[in-house]
Amino acid sequence: MTSYGADEFEGIQTDVSSELAGVPDAFQRLWTPHRLVYIQDGQQPDEHSCPFCRAPELSDEQSLIVARGEHAYVLLNLFPYNSGHLLVCPYRHIATYDQATPEEVAEIGELTQTAMRVVKDVSRCDGFNIGMNQGRIAGAGIAEHLHQHIVPRWALDANFFPIIAKTKALPRLLGEVRQEIAEAWPA
Ligand SMILES: [Zn+2]
Repeated sequence: MTSYGADEFEGIQTDVSSELAGVPDAFQRLWTPHRLVYIQDGQQPDEHSCPFCRAPELSDEQSLIVARGEHAYVLLNLFPYNSGHLLVCPYRHIATYDQATPEEVAEIGELTQTAMRVVKDVSRCDGFNIGMNQGRIAGAGIAEHLHQHIVPRWALDANFFPIIAKTKALPRLLGEVRQEIAEAWPA
């Protein structure tokens, strides 16, 4: 695949993916609505530039945030496994679930339930994968800041694709999906 500068695609200015929140992985994304808008540059953030600490300081549109709670917030994963792949993060920079306060645990749970209802409503998905990878050895892309994955699944979501091609087919762009979920989120 041709490589482009992270902030430019054929002369069009795009977001620098390393400055946005998300959990990088080994996959490349095939953005199917039209041509690739940004390229993951594979940078791992250090503790001074944690993307999940930085995201709430930016606008919802910039950070792909769909909802903000008192102790935790919800955003689209910049590196989704499927369209509508959300992350629920506490505002506090804590690494593992056992470090979360009862208030954080409760709100992460509530936001996860709401996210499931909203995503099911807007995307008609058939199921979900939900979970937290605790520690880099367990697969956490950003192990330093706790985040719960909510991945919608469809009966025909072609999950063999990443195995054969190290590529994800994503039929919708992140900004579009963010707006739809944010608008459907109960006030
Ligand atoms: Zn953090």
